[in-house]
Amino acid sequence: MAKKQFKAESKRLLEMMINSIYTQKEIFLRELISNASDAIDKMYYKALTDESIVFDKDQYYIKVETDKQNRKLTITDTGIGMTKEELEINLGTIAKSGSLAFKSENELKDGHDIIGQFGVGFYSAFMVADEVTVTSKALGSHDAYKWQSDGTDGYTIEEAEKDTFGTTIELTIKENTEDENYDEYVDSHRLRAIIKKYSDFIRYPIKMNVTERKLKEGSDNEWEDYTEVQTINSMVPIWRKNKSELTTEDYENFYKEKHYGFDKPLKHIHISVDGAVRYNAILYIPENIPFDYYTKEYEKGLELYSNGVLIMNKCSDLLPDHFSFVKGMVDSEDLSLNISREILQHDRQLKLIAKNINNKIKSQLQSLLKDEREKYEQFFKAFGRQIKYGVYTDFGSNKEALQDLLMFYSSTEKKMVTLAEYTARMPEEQKYIYYASGESHERIEKSPQLELVTDKGYEVLYFTEDIDEFAIKMLINYKEKEFKSVSSGDLGIEPDDQIEKTESEEQEHHDLFEAMKKILADKVKDVRVSKRLRTHPVCLATDGEVTIEMEKILQAMPD
Ligand code: ADP
Ligand code: MG
Repeated sequence: MAKKQFKAESKRLLEMMINSIYTQKEIFLRELISNASDAIDKMYYKALTDESIVFDKDQYYIKVETDKQNRKLTITDTGIGMTKEELEINLGTIAKSGSLAFKSENELKDGHDIIGQFGVGFYSAFMVADEVTVTSKALGSHDAYKWQSDGTDGYTIEEAEKDTFGTTIELTIKENTEDENYDEYVDSHRLRAIIKKYSDFIRYPIKMNVTERKLKEGSDNEWEDYTEVQTINSMVPIWRKNKSELTTEDYENFYKEKHYGFDKPLKHIHISVDGAVRYNAILYIPENIPFDYYTKEYEKGLELYSNGVLIMNKCSDLLPDHFSFVKGMVDSEDLSLNISREILQHDRQLKLIAKNINNKIKSQLQSLLKDEREKYEQFFKAFGRQIKYGVYTDFGSNKEALQDLLMFYSSTEKKMVTLAEYTARMPEEQKYIYYASGESHERIEKSPQLELVTDKGYEVLYFTEDIDEFAIKMLINYKEKEFKSVSSGDLGIEPDDQIEKTESEEQEHHDLFEAMKKILADKVKDVRVSKRLRTHPVCLATDGEVTIEMEKILQAMPD
């Protein structure tokens, strides 16, 4: 039996598609500029095999112009253009991608720079325009043609006048409605910002007439407007450049340009990976804590680019929580995008990249600790708390690496030390890694519990943050040395002769202790002779795993 083709109510299909796949109207410009860039790329690829075409990069550009009065926006490129047939096929068939076909027909090995693949981006113009006119002259052709459509009633194609090869797309921007204002799409400042946001790294110049104000010549208070053609985009993405060509200042400028923070980055990490998944990334560890960092409002994430075109502003899947302070971007040509090119189809590549990035950040922090101690301490002061949360909440493989990034104040060194440094100094007979919790260093130093351990000459780590003890409890031990609070019952250092002495003293004062226990019945469990006090008359000790400090925190938590 002969198979029948599906018919489609194309008018409705187009309307549904245009209004449902994109979350933001402004991306139409990204789509049209990407198409223009593809058209110029095709010239470049043609020139590789056709000697009659000379690809002089300076001749190729994309121009964006507005006419506010007539609500026109035009995008012109000097690319390969379209023949009458190509206009018909590529713009007359929804989901037909001439660019995808071009890649396979020309067997482009590194044609990965060509952006188009779905054959729908062009129609996004109808989100903001009542009418779209495409005038095009194909490479090698004498005639130019004009394609025109209002997005609902089909299209027309007729002969047109055009001197040079390439394509001009003219949009008649919609009139404002009650709920929607379209004026921004003929406002050159706004358009410029949209270009910067999505298309900054398109490899060909995107030009615009920019009107600026300057002082009239010979005058110091009379201003005049002047217009000049400016290239809006940065073109060469810094992350594609060779690390050796870049200075710290270049990285700092990029940080500023991208508004990653108002501070300077403490450290940048430039990654280029050409393995199972290819990607480039520039990451930063900020110098200061963003003002909203430890609040619910803070959103972690990296910018995600596909071939230099921005896909996502804050891709949170790229960063683990324990490194949520990292800023920066990732560009990959291996992402499978969904049709709107706003989200990803499969996350396998993304998972690979995220894992890779996690490891890179870890190792970079480790080398910062090793080589630039002062900077590391500055980092830890700002974001150490987040690392501790990481240790506390991680049930996987990160704990191992994160524990080596921890720092605590040391009773003997009088500065921040790592666990590795602590254990390396431990006398052989010392059984535990000791710590003391309290509100501040001063408070801890005054606490009677500290005495026995410090008298022994042992180093004690000061825990002054809520999270400290919880994190350590999750680690249980470090290099097989258990952590021990100085206020816990068994410190592992009570001398033997003390035990007998304690027993006899306990007998002697039996009645006194019983009386004290009765009075403090709802406050303490037991009253005992202490094995550990030296100069202080009394101290509170805990029974079991939870220390007094932890109990305080647990009690303060809402149920
Ligand atoms: P995609 O870019 O994903 O292929 P589009 O809907 O954006 O889909 O464009 C459809 C096709 O129209 C492109 O593949 C290309 O062949 C053609 N096209 C669109 N814009 C231009 C242009 N400025 N110059 C040349 N060809 C273009
Ligand atoms: Mg496209």
